Amino acid sequence: MEVISSVETFNGSKVASPVETVLSVRQVKVVFSGFQALKGVDLDVGDREIVTIIGPNGAGKSTLLDAIVGKSPVASGHVYYHGKEITNKSPYEIARMGIGRKFQNPNVYNDLTVFENLLLALKGSHGIMSSIRAKLTQAKKEKIKDVLDRVGLVDKAFTKVSSLSHGQKQWVEIGMVLAQDPTVVLLDEPTAGMTPDETHMTGEIIKSISKTHSVVVIEHDMEFVKQIAQRIVVLHQGAKLTEGTVSEVQSNPEVIEVYLGRERIDAAA
Ligand code: ADP
Ligand code: MG
Repeated sequence: MEVISSVETFNGSKVASPVETVLSVRQVKVVFSGFQALKGVDLDVGDREIVTIIGPNGAGKSTLLDAIVGKSPVASGHVYYHGKEITNKSPYEIARMGIGRKFQNPNVYNDLTVFENLLLALKGSHGIMSSIRAKLTQAKKEKIKDVLDRVGLVDKAFTKVSSLSHGQKQWVEIGMVLAQDPTVVLLDEPTAGMTPDETHMTGEIIKSISKTHSVVVIEHDMEFVKQIAQRIVVLHQGAKLTEGTVSEVQSNPEVIEVYLGRERIDAAA
């Protein structure tokens, strides 16, 4: 087992960290056919912290999550989970270790109920039929009840996913990630396509998840970022531009130039 001496060492200096660092990304590069999608990115995620990643399209946000979960090969640099190197381990192994990832598009079983979807996602489930036929233990029932509660779908437990709204399907998927009992939850644009009410509800769900889990959220909607954000990391062209609180990031001239400025231009177009 490879253990790094101090995950708080950054560019040779100690960074004050009030909480235990759970996930640590160091100088990670990802290259696609000669194109550097990530050019040496650092990211720290503390215990029960929410880190929000923003940045223009193509900045490398999804690629950063892919690199963490072993989906995109890391060309150089390191990913540590609880101080243990997990760089380029298989997605399956990384998920099993405790890093759960929700992708941009819902990936749920429409013909099954919310309850059945969560049952399938539980740690240790093997296949649809065997999971559904297997004896439903009290522990599994309680776990599913807890997850339903967290994602606000208790009254939809026995509804088929196909008849849920787009937002509710996204919550089922967040629930499926939680059912795997992760320590870190990675969410890629969880509010995409949601109504303003659903977006707000998602923010409350994420804040509640962060009471027990570390959460990394990729997000575009600045109102939503303000609702949930503790620490914001800004990515631009495969590199970290800056990080800080909402007001620090919003008043950073470079951020205004490359990100917020662009958004205003987009809005005016
Ligand atoms: P973001 O999520 O910030 O919008 P991505 O991480 O999806 O950006 O993409 C970053 C850059 O890497 C983009 O230029 C994108 O086209 C490129 N890219 C992402 N995934 C691949 C891939 N599998 N193969 C080739 N290029 C990719
Ligand atoms: Mg993306």
